Formats: sequence, C-alpha cells, structure tokens
Amino acid sequence: MLADLLNILFPRKCHICHSSLTPHERFACSHCLADLPRSGFHRRKLNPMEERFAGIFPFERATGHFLYNRDSPLSTLIQDMKYRHFPSIGNMLGEMAGRELFSTGFFSDVDLIIPVPMHRWKQIRRGYNQVHHIADGLSQATGIPVNLTLKAVRSHRTQTALNREQRLANTSGLFKVENPDEVAGRHILLIDDVCTTGSTLISSAETIWQAKPRALSLFTLAVTF
Ligand SMILES: [Zn+2]
Repeated sequence: MLADLLNILFPRKCHICHSSLTPHERFACSHCLADLPRSGFHRRKLNPMEERFAGIFPFERATGHFLYNRDSPLSTLIQDMKYRHFPSIGNMLGEMAGRELFSTGFFSDVDLIIPVPMHRWKQIRRGYNQVHHIADGLSQATGIPVNLTLKAVRSHRTQTALNREQRLANTSGLFKVENPDEVAGRHILLIDDVCTTGSTLISSAETIWQAKPRALSLFTLAVTF
C-alpha cells in the first residue's frame, strides 16, 4: 500500500520512454525492456565476442547479452546505472539476463561469479561498483555465488586513445587475486558491464589464470557491435 501511495505522489517513470511504471516495474517499462536488442551470441559457436579473445587466453565460452551502441535505448540505462546513481539497474538487468540465459546451459558447470573490480578510490568516489550489482542479479537468477577476491591494485588511464599494445601495457598489473585458493580448481565466470575493446577483460582474465582455475568463461551485460 505504501508503494502504491508513493507511486501516486511521486509517479515513477520509465528511464527510456518516460511512461509511468506499474508497481511491479523497475526503472524501465516491460515494453522497453522487451525491445532491448539481445545479441543471441550464446547460441553461436565462435561468436563475435569470443573472436575478440580467441588465442589471447583460454576460455570455455563468452557472451555479451545485450547489443550496445551510444544511441541505443540501452545506453540510457547503462549511463544511469554507471554515472547517475542507479546501481540497482544492474541488479535488474543482471537478473533478467541470468533468467534468459539460464535454460540455455550457459551457466552450467560454473562455480563462481567474479566481477571485474573497480579501483578503491574510484569506487569511493562513485559510491558503488555497478558490476557488483550485475553480479548480484546474475547470482539471484542462477544461484551461483559471487566472489570478490579479484581486486584492482592500481587505477588506469582511459583506454580509448591507445593502440592494442599500449592498452595491454596500460592494463598489465592492474589486478590481483587476493585469495588464490578461492579460485584454484573452479570454473570462474568473469563478468563486466560493457565489452568494448575487451582490454579490461583480457587483463582480468590473465590475472585469474595465474590463480589456476579449472576453467574460465566470460559474461558482460552488453557488448558493442
Ligand atoms: Zn518504456
């Protein structure tokens, strides 16, 4: 009842189309969520995201669930999640993607979900790491636990103006696994919000491999195309 009353006093709007939300909708209306473009990559052998990592480090499978570009309605949700203090959008989209992928077997055999970390100072400035929220949503949908043993040990400058070699140098030594025992022998699902160049995932994955997991798979909420 309180939720209903609050909704009358302060009507919540869809972040994408600005229509009023029903009490059961969060952040975006069901029409806008249904219209977000899914990549369908999990159904394809050597999909475009797997091609970005093939030959760089070993992995079982990789997918980015939604297709992303700067003008897409999804980018509104991603920007609100990252920069406008709506981290719970990550929980919602993570849970949604988790439910949609669960029956496909994408998560089968995965033991732990490990989010790409944010450097401590950056996280303090922002107040949260949105990738943790995506991880919690995925965990909610799949029952797979989240583990935060991967840490960012130094911050890195922005990647966009760098070539591939500079990017790798820029991201080497960025991360460390705090408790290698928690990773050893497990199938790790490494997750991030958006896969663009993939350099952060490459650097995280190379760090994870040093802790001797049994297998590694990759998931991002969105992937550029
Ligand atoms: Zn809408």
